[in-house]
Amino acid sequence: MMGPILLGIAILVVVFGVFLFRAIPAMQTYSLYRGTRLVKCPETHQTVAVGVAAGKAAATVLWGNPTLGLEQCSRWPERQNCGQECLQQIETDPDNCLVWNIVSRWYEGQSCALCHRRFGRLKHLDHPPALMDADRKTTEWKDFRPEELTGVFATHQPVCWDCHVTETFRRAHPELVVYRDRGAHTRV
Ligand SMILES: [Zn+2]
Repeated sequence: MMGPILLGIAILVVVFGVFLFRAIPAMQTYSLYRGTRLVKCPETHQTVAVGVAAGKAAATVLWGNPTLGLEQCSRWPERQNCGQECLQQIETDPDNCLVWNIVSRWYEGQSCALCHRRFGRLKHLDHPPALMDADRKTTEWKDFRPEELTGVFATHQPVCWDCHVTETFRRAHPELVVYRDRGAHTRV
């Protein structure tokens, strides 16, 4: 009677041990592949925004190497049955194509076009900086579609959150804005 029970407990311990042993690589895989990425579509050679099914990839690590698949693409649903060859670009360098890293690299070292404060590395808890077009209209970078960002970087200037808020207020309530004489500084 004790034999089958002990065998059952032993199997449970082994299964649980294997699960624990693979849990850390699974979490690392999830962390590595989550988030939106920009890749070059092998079909059109245009920049597209894709998301890897990070949860699925992490689950496959529990019993082997991670299996990557897309869970979203800016060309879907029209091209939902594509071969997902762009995954090779992500496997080769997952960090380099992450939208967050691309945006952070673009801002870092530049200065706000309005107050000239220098940008550091983006932080997730900070207010997101913005981009300013030729008409001085500012937009948070997160409000652009990810696949548009590369083009937007070529035509817009970086603006900090504080100046974005001031500019947004100035555009919405021009009657409340007082322009001081000294320089181009605007006080609201
Ligand atoms: Zn500023």
